Amino acid sequence: MPDTVQEVIPLSEAQQRVLDGVAPLSPVQIACNLAAGLVLAQDVVASEHVPPFANTAVDGFAVRAADVAHAPVELRVIGTCAAGDGTEWHVGAGEALRIMTGAPMPTGADAVVMVEDCEQPTRERVQVGKSVAVGAAVRPVADDVRAGDTVFGAGSVLNAAGAGVLSSMNARQVLVYPRAKVALLSTGDELVTDGSPLSRGQIRESNLTMLEILIAGSQCEVTNLGVIADDEALLERTLRHAASTHDAIVTSGGVSMGDFDVVKAVLSRIADMQWMQMAVKPAKPFAFGLLSDAQRRVPVFGLPGNPVSSMISFELLARPALRKMMGHTQNLLRPTVRAVADAPLRRKPDGKVHFMRVFAHFADDGRLHVRDSGPQGSHQLAATAAANGLALVPDGAGIDAGGSVDVLLLA
Ligand code: AMP
Ligand code: MG
Repeated sequence: MPDTVQEVIPLSEAQQRVLDGVAPLSPVQIACNLAAGLVLAQDVVASEHVPPFANTAVDGFAVRAADVAHAPVELRVIGTCAAGDGTEWHVGAGEALRIMTGAPMPTGADAVVMVEDCEQPTRERVQVGKSVAVGAAVRPVADDVRAGDTVFGAGSVLNAAGAGVLSSMNARQVLVYPRAKVALLSTGDELVTDGSPLSRGQIRESNLTMLEILIAGSQCEVTNLGVIADDEALLERTLRHAASTHDAIVTSGGVSMGDFDVVKAVLSRIADMQWMQMAVKPAKPFAFGLLSDAQRRVPVFGLPGNPVSSMISFELLARPALRKMMGHTQNLLRPTVRAVADAPLRRKPDGKVHFMRVFAHFADDGRLHVRDSGPQGSHQLAATAAANGLALVPDGAGIDAGGSVDVLLLA
């Protein structure tokens, strides 16, 4: 059996132990449209110019700027060129080419006059009402990306625009740290998931639903294994199979001191675990360890069962570690901002930091303001659902109205 007496450690120490226990996954090549949110594992060097040719930024007439220096002037229209038209047009003196946004610039022309500044009385003639400078409304070749440039550095996080840039320069595959494949399970014989009427003592499951969304929102691939009965043999089989097919395991419930804390009983036996008691409220018990498969050691995050504790310990301990596994080196934790308490944040002294659920908003004074989002019990998930931040209320009697407090922004 595991030790029953555990020292209480500060959150920062628990976070460090967990981060020290995980390593980045091996990079993989993936299609650029699937890479948004992931971390690049190598520099991306452009092999093509973007745009690949000089083209017009507006619908209008490609001209020689010198010809329209004394506008209004009339020019001869030699034709029309649409985006995608490969015709090699040449604009001579006294001539103009009707041209659409994105179409290649014809040789001879050095500027484009917007269609709004022109009148075309006949197909062959255009009256240009305005003079333009050389280069006006022309997008030069490589104006966005130049072949040979390092466009993204290793370690940067690709966003949607970044994936678009890769596509624009034909970098269709990119080397990234992969999404961690995470197996998720809950324990608890009291939990009902199938919508059937509740018998005495039963409750409906909530953590799996919540954690599945939090894990997926952390850019991981999640397999929801459901509720596993409080049965040691079944739990051991499930955990071992999960370790052979996943990069990490998240469990909910069964990690405290109760008689039926089977997660604790099984993991103590089959994995190399640290059972932690942290000086925070909620989310005091937390388990972290490594479950060895034939090839690998798979991190296991044992979250407490109380729904609010489960969520907060995921945020504070599991999410940063999963991010490290997915190649992040910065912003492992969510940002913390100093805020003004609009109403008192009351608590009792107990030697712990309290993570109070708050609603935070930026007010006209440019500062973040918070108030508690409702009852703060670790079973009261509804008030947590109304929160978008966690106020770090240090040990003591709490924060007075108007006082300042650090707030971890969840959204
Ligand atoms: P445990 O950590 O297993 O001792 O559970 C602590 C509390 O959380 C108990 O009240 C459980 O019924 C509740 N709980 C555990 N798992 C879940 C879950 N998946 N959904 C909702 N409540 C849960
Ligand atoms: Mg339980």
